[in-house]
Amino acid sequence: MGAIRLILGDQLSNQISSLNGADKKNDVILMLEVMEECSYVPHHKQKIVLFLSAMRHFSADLRLKGYRVDYVKLDDPANTGTLTSEIKRAIDRWQTEGLILTEPGEWRIQKLAESWNTSLNTKVDILPDDRFFASKERFKEWASDRRTWRMEYFYRELRKENQLLMKDDKPAGGSWNFDSKNRKSLPKGFSIPSRLRFPPDQITREVLELVSHTFENNFGNAENFSWPVTRSEALESLEHFLQDMLPQFGDYQDAMKTGETFLFHSLLSTSLNIGLLLPEEVCRSAEEKYENGEAPINAVEGFIRQILGWREYVRGVYWTLMPDYANSNGLDANRKLPHFYWDGKTDLNCLKEAITATKQIGYSHHIQRLMVTGNFALLAGVSPQEVERWYLSVYSDAIEWVEMPNTIGMAMHADGGKMASKPYVSSGAYINRMSNFCGDCKYDVKEKTGPKACPFNFLYWAFLIGNEDKLGDNPRMGIPYRNLSKWTDDAKQTYLDCAEEFLSSIG
Ligand code: FAD
Ligand code: SF4
Repeated sequence: MGAIRLILGDQLSNQISSLNGADKKNDVILMLEVMEECSYVPHHKQKIVLFLSAMRHFSADLRLKGYRVDYVKLDDPANTGTLTSEIKRAIDRWQTEGLILTEPGEWRIQKLAESWNTSLNTKVDILPDDRFFASKERFKEWASDRRTWRMEYFYRELRKENQLLMKDDKPAGGSWNFDSKNRKSLPKGFSIPSRLRFPPDQITREVLELVSHTFENNFGNAENFSWPVTRSEALESLEHFLQDMLPQFGDYQDAMKTGETFLFHSLLSTSLNIGLLLPEEVCRSAEEKYENGEAPINAVEGFIRQILGWREYVRGVYWTLMPDYANSNGLDANRKLPHFYWDGKTDLNCLKEAITATKQIGYSHHIQRLMVTGNFALLAGVSPQEVERWYLSVYSDAIEWVEMPNTIGMAMHADGGKMASKPYVSSGAYINRMSNFCGDCKYDVKEKTGPKACPFNFLYWAFLIGNEDKLGDNPRMGIPYRNLSKWTDDAKQTYLDCAEEFLSSIG
């Protein structure tokens, strides 16, 4: 008898290393839907539907390709609910000689997989996940001889190594980074193309039914589920983005608009994170658009930087710093997450917009995550671990290796600046500049203190005052701290009082 080849829910790629050299006659491909994975945080309903539906489609495809697939569904009465106990049952069923899998994406599962040798008394082969540009070791080697880590420098090395957007040994377009051109707000009346939808087929409808009764009380709605769940849908989604959205992606990357959650963003994170698309094919196809003159350099470089730069960088940070990273709390923030993060019931219009969209579709774009929900949680002094659990639960694309550094490091600045050189904080002025949210808000974005003042305004200054001992020396915070040094103690106290009163009113 051959081996069991385990494929996890975020390993749905035909090129996954655990399938390499599989013996179609003797090996068994094992795929497991288990309650443990569906419930270790209260996942958004759409996230569970995405994973289970994509897994079922992938297994059907493997069967068509001639593999022997053993697939255990969540509602199978014999399902024991955990990965370990289900693998044990499969070993007993098939009497196989060993277990082969690709390294898991999460620390928690990696440690579990490392224990199977002993706990299951079987030979376990854990193969590298080669779907990324850089291996975990490549990042560790880069990080080991640097006192400070910055995404930009890792990104440049990967651009050179992979010859992506390079002209000989120089960056295409004459610069490594066109971020300064990617900060436009959306002009009034600007037309945004409608998005391609992927209506549920029979398999997805069955999963929707299962999720609606098994996870009835989980966060979010599942009714309007429309994420790609197969490789061919993911490719269609990529083509749609490249054709209709990419040319404007750069200009309006940071913009926000009421009722327009997607703007020109790619919506490719779910497909990338579960393996329906590979980062290299996505970056190369964007590069081709630039080379053919179909998309400008600021758009293509901006897009490729998100994947070749940020996505690879956060994976390196995660695997280099776990498990201590999960408990980082460099700013000693301990407030509970306000309840409106779960129900969206708040008067702060920008937060209401971002959280409502999150509930409806399990998505909001990067600036909504970073500069609205993240910014508020950081200014309000919410515990990074509470915030991290929220992000991991509510987004359809949330897998810990990519979500945690973005939350702990980028949004909450809880890692002492390991991941990002300064905290991403702003007053209401930034949100007003990049969106039209403030026009419909109960609060006045121009007011600094008092009952009508935009809470982001006084929370911003109260945050700087409260964290001066930790952030005052940061060269990238020089401007606000120089400004603050001219304030009287009374002025500072007014902001602290406003912040205190507001924060106690939201619980
Ligand atoms: P686009 O804006 O079109 O970007 C293209 C691709 O680049 C994305 O699909 C994604 O794969 C990659 N990308 C962009 N920004 C980042 C980033 N900062 N880190 C890693 N990859 C990036 N991304 C996730 O995939 N899963 C998460 O759980 C997640 N949690 C986040 C939590 C916080 C607090 C913040 C600030 C960001 C988080 N991100 C996460 C990063 C980013 O917001 C999403 O990748 C992006 O919004 C997904 O939408 P999109 O596919 O339309 O992205
Ligand atoms: Fe948000 Fe303040 Fe603008 Fe209201 S006024 S939408 S709270 S930034």
